[in-house]
Amino acid sequence: LADAGRAAALGPDALDLARGAAIAPRGRPATADPARNLVVRRADDGVLGIVVDSGGLAAAAAQPDALAQIAPRARPMVLPTGAPPPAGVRVLATVPLGAVLPHLTLAIVNDPTDPDPLDDVIASRSRRHVGLTVGLAAVLALGLLATIRGAARERELARLKSDFVSTVSHELKTPLTSIRMFAEMLEQGVAQGDADRTARYHGIIVQESQRLGLLIANLLDYAQIERGTRRYRLARASVAAIAQDAVATFRGLREAQPSNDVVVAVSPEAERTTALVDRDVLIQALLNLLANAAKYGGADAPIRVEVEQVAHEARITVRDRGPGIPAAEHERIFREFYRTAQAYSAGVEGTGLGLALVKNHVTAHGGRVTVESAPGKGAAFTIALPALDHEQST
Ligand code: ADP
Repeated sequence: LADAGRAAALGPDALDLARGAAIAPRGRPATADPARNLVVRRADDGVLGIVVDSGGLAAAAAQPDALAQIAPRARPMVLPTGAPPPAGVRVLATVPLGAVLPHLTLAIVNDPTDPDPLDDVIASRSRRHVGLTVGLAAVLALGLLATIRGAARERELARLKSDFVSTVSHELKTPLTSIRMFAEMLEQGVAQGDADRTARYHGIIVQESQRLGLLIANLLDYAQIERGTRRYRLARASVAAIAQDAVATFRGLREAQPSNDVVVAVSPEAERTTALVDRDVLIQALLNLLANAAKYGGADAPIRVEVEQVAHEARITVRDRGPGIPAAEHERIFREFYRTAQAYSAGVEGTGLGLALVKNHVTAHGGRVTVESAPGKGAAFTIALPALDHEQST
């Protein structure tokens, strides 16, 4: 080792290391153990660099392939610690040589004309930053959109609520006015001696009070649902019997008008179908569907109520042959206070609460309510509830 003398001058440790080390031509490992390889280089200024590889960069320095991974044409160079790099080289990385050679630093360099690997790093980081920024901007935009939508929905709800107040006042006033009018006529003896007329007036009073009753029941229900205080008294009941009861009540309600022809059809397998329900609530939900079928389908239009069991579901469908509902409205009509433009333009009175309540009640029973309808094709609303097994019901 020609320069062992110089190494010795650097200190006893360096000499020990130099003695135990293998010497290899520059850039090639001398032994399989990289920790024992030395890279010896005589710099132009005559400084002998002894690089003791303790892993990492020095091992890389001994392996041209590894260096090539850092940058094309990267090479090791020993530089005086703290000195600026010589002209004509670009320092890519440095590592101190430690206590043995504190005044020397191992540098990995390439030529300034070669590509700078830092550019790649910066480019990939900036790509990542751009990705992140775009991602954040997208999240912000979505949030903003949700807020705007939420605000629009709030405004819409406020408008619907204020429409609702005037509609409800009107809805309450109409039956009350007829009740008072016909009651006064009876009181004044307008129909005296005319049994038919008297019966008709009484019928109107009964029907209008029942209409008022359904409206008030809906309003109370809505208030309870809003407050979250609605409770259900669930009991096992025959679904077909409930449908029949609802229709009987409905016929009673419409007694004084040309009656809709209401048919109840129970499929054979649904005869014994039972479900866990709050009977009064389910009847009220069906009354809402029947009232809609009559309101929108016309007072003389036939209404069909079908009771079926499909798989584990008990289904009650109220079908009318009215004007139907466009597909675009199918989801909205179940929202509270929502009424279609057709309902307004046809002058049909209502609060927009009926279907929202039906949906709420049916969902609370673990069921679902669906609509099948197209303009001119009538409408079919189906309440589907989980059916109990026949064995359970006996
Ligand atoms: P309301 O009848 O008081 O307006 P609902 O919640 O019961 O409120 O119904 C919401 C809307 O759905 C109605 O305004 C009407 O436009 C539409 N709708 C409901 N049932 C029918 C039906 N059987 N035929 C046509 N349209 C209907």
